[in-house]
Amino acid sequence: MTSHEIRRHFLDFFRSKEHLIVPSAPLVAKNDPTLMFNNSGMAQFKDFFLGNGTPPSKRVADTQKCLRVSGKHNDLEDVGFDTYHHTMFEMLGNWSFGDYFKKEAIAWAWELLTEVYKLPKDRLYVSVFQGDEKDNVPFDQEAFDLWKPIVGEDRIIYGNKKDNFWEMGDTGPCGPCSEIHVDLRSAEEVAETPGKELVNADHPQVVEIWNLVFMQFNRKADGSLEPLPARHVDTGMGFERLCMAIQGKKSNYDTDVFSGTINVIEELSGIKYEAGKSMTDVAMRVIADHIRAVSFAIADGLVPSNAKAGYVIRRILRRAIRYGYSYLNLTEPFMTKLVPTLAMQFADVFPELNAQRDFVATVIREEEIAFLRTLGTGLGRLDQIIGQLTTEGKQEIPGETVFELNDTFGFPADLTALIAREKGLSIDEAGFQKALQEQKQRSRKDAQSSAGDWIDLAELDDKVEFVGYDQPEAYAQIVKYRKIQNKQGTQVQVVLDKTPFYAESGGQIGDTGTLELFSNSDQIGTLTVLDTKKENDLIIHIVQNVDGIDDLLTEADSVYAVINTARRGLTSSNHSATHLLHAALRDVLGTHVAQKGSYVGPDALRFDFSHFSKVTDEQLAEVERIVNEKIREDIKLDEKRNVPIADAKNMGATALFGEKYGDFVRVITFDPNYSVELCGGTHVPATGHIGLFKFTGEGSVSTGVRRVEAKTSAGAEQLVNEQMAVVSELKELLKAPKDLVKAVQALMEERTALQKQVEALQNEKVQQLKNQLLEKVEAVNRNGGPGHTRLVERVEVPNADALKQLAYDLKAKVDNLALVLGADINGKPQLAVMLPDSLIQTKNLNAGQVVKELAKNIKGGGGGQPFFATAGGSDSSGLDAALAQGKELLG
Ligand code: ATP
Ligand code: MG
Repeated sequence: MTSHEIRRHFLDFFRSKEHLIVPSAPLVAKNDPTLMFNNSGMAQFKDFFLGNGTPPSKRVADTQKCLRVSGKHNDLEDVGFDTYHHTMFEMLGNWSFGDYFKKEAIAWAWELLTEVYKLPKDRLYVSVFQGDEKDNVPFDQEAFDLWKPIVGEDRIIYGNKKDNFWEMGDTGPCGPCSEIHVDLRSAEEVAETPGKELVNADHPQVVEIWNLVFMQFNRKADGSLEPLPARHVDTGMGFERLCMAIQGKKSNYDTDVFSGTINVIEELSGIKYEAGKSMTDVAMRVIADHIRAVSFAIADGLVPSNAKAGYVIRRILRRAIRYGYSYLNLTEPFMTKLVPTLAMQFADVFPELNAQRDFVATVIREEEIAFLRTLGTGLGRLDQIIGQLTTEGKQEIPGETVFELNDTFGFPADLTALIAREKGLSIDEAGFQKALQEQKQRSRKDAQSSAGDWIDLAELDDKVEFVGYDQPEAYAQIVKYRKIQNKQGTQVQVVLDKTPFYAESGGQIGDTGTLELFSNSDQIGTLTVLDTKKENDLIIHIVQNVDGIDDLLTEADSVYAVINTARRGLTSSNHSATHLLHAALRDVLGTHVAQKGSYVGPDALRFDFSHFSKVTDEQLAEVERIVNEKIREDIKLDEKRNVPIADAKNMGATALFGEKYGDFVRVITFDPNYSVELCGGTHVPATGHIGLFKFTGEGSVSTGVRRVEAKTSAGAEQLVNEQMAVVSELKELLKAPKDLVKAVQALMEERTALQKQVEALQNEKVQQLKNQLLEKVEAVNRNGGPGHTRLVERVEVPNADALKQLAYDLKAKVDNLALVLGADINGKPQLAVMLPDSLIQTKNLNAGQVVKELAKNIKGGGGGQPFFATAGGSDSSGLDAALAQGKELLG
């Protein structure tokens, strides 16, 4: 069975069991403060388990792109070394939201594995939760009783809390789970050691393939558990492991999921993949794995960068490059060459990659070029360090140094170790780990925040109703609130059943405003809303903490929620302008322009998009002209809500890659022939409200991504006024010339001419000075020997360059000259020392040392070559003393 068939059978099977098949959410998690990447199938359904929304169906199944490289699930360091953990993998899953429970979940899992996929029954093991006294949760008898008749008691394993009790986080839904493991060893091996003994023992051919989670409890902040009113099923099966089992392979990398990519790596490196444990094999697995994670993350809208999720992607990419570089001699960009194979392989499952194939390949190539350069620089630096350590007779590179190379050069510790080993040195691994830990702790401290339990005040049926498209205020009920501690101190998060507050998303910032609290029609208080954010589908008002806030919130029987309309108005102007801008950019630069990020606030707008070269001034001017033209056309907003996604696409709406859209979307149109976008943001009723659009900047964000910044309405007006004020002031300063630019040009030409004159005069002065000094040269004869000539003088010169020039000119005129010149240049003392070869050799003098010694007199320091050195200082009153000392030294 091919991997394509395996995936299709899974979805068909659950479709036949009345499951709705949904698309995978993007790899990059949005609106979930606890997650950077989707790391399991259930991540996109969290709200349904928490009761914050209604699922599209009570039974759902899909294949989800997962990434386990940060946070709670981090498999990165195992990848490549073992054969069944990936960074990115597909998780096949089926869900019941308050519908079927253990009985069906278990029966169907068994049916699918043994009847559809025909996995041998005697090679399957299952685990059930053994219970935990401390937590007061019992043995999962129900699951045991269901499994026993189908697998037999001797194939059941009792699992502890770590393996068989699943929790969403510190708080929230949780419950026992049953894992299904498969034994893929040969008959001889099985005869020798029973599979049961190898379950959960990290054996590469006895692996977990499927985890069935039965959510039946809710964990509270104090650690206690309470039963969930509606029980859910959440299952996750590793697609690549399943393919290994069905295709009878010993490693995920031997399946057709990876073989195409591995073939290309073999071709590029000229090395054969042996599926073993050598470092070339490890490197090939690392590369075959990482290219998937990086390509799909970029296709989902992420770009490698120096912060957050972008940095994680950059690190994964670099890890692969480094393995290729160190073990496969791949010293030219190679990852980029793997993209087409991957794009083709997944074209019908995850078409987003194929659709952006060239963009993804280019971003990766540029990253590779930059990192290979870094590796070059790092290698040079490392050579230096090793050289120094060896001369000092040391054998170990200090941990601090390894960390520094890693942190500032991006030069990986294991590569440092490898190179050090080749030169007979080792690295202080413990010291490095310590430095790394310290850094981690520092960043953890920065990010630390903690949340208390939600205090429930009212039921929420379905989800929070957002009324802010139509009205700036609303009466509402408080659903729940909780306190959070973060860097800002204590804040309170408040959830209302309906709200006019727009929660930050799609680049648009969250609304601010007030919540007026009422009890029996009396106003009992007013709270300030500092920001509004989304957690999945929940709209959360971030409220300033005040004394007695618990009493206020619990006593209030209604809330009048009012947003800051002026701020919202400006933000809406900027958002609508962003749409006009997007369309104009595609007009002027081409349809390859795809949005990669945006900021829409009351003050300004920022728009990031894919484009490979600088946007020229002419192009910017043209884009600005079009946007302003569209503003003046005063195009009416056409807002359509709840449009079926297929209809929206037929309308030609621009959808963003990496954005999760539901079945029904909102479509924002400003002229169906100009700008049609899927968008949840707020907009002006007609483009005329934007008033004016002005660019304030253009630049590069990262490879292949440009950023433009602009202001609109009052902000743009202010910008223009400020610029005009500068022009007026200049005109006034220049005595109101007819042509301002010409006047400034004339001034600059005049200045250049004057400068030339000044230089000529100074030169002349220095020549005169030189002639005067030549007369003061004295001969020093030592014991009748050849001797040398000496000149020690205080001079007046305009700058340090002139002093140096003077010294060289004198040297050219006088044989064997030993020279000390001192000058006060605009209040700063300067010294120059020149020595003849004779003194350097016979008296073992060095101009650098001499000048350092003399500079003490002027509270300064300096240096240079053995025959010429200079020094600067801060105390001119010591100049004469310095010269006197110089005379003596050169005697
Ligand atoms: P393991 O103990 O093998 O790391 P897990 O307990 O972390 O697995 P779950 O979180 O239960 O796994 O995920 C469900 C399924 O996803 C697993 O049964 C496995 O088949 C698959 N899976 C988990 N992590 C990975 C990974 N890093 N690469 C590939 N498949 C994975
Ligand atoms: Mg794991």
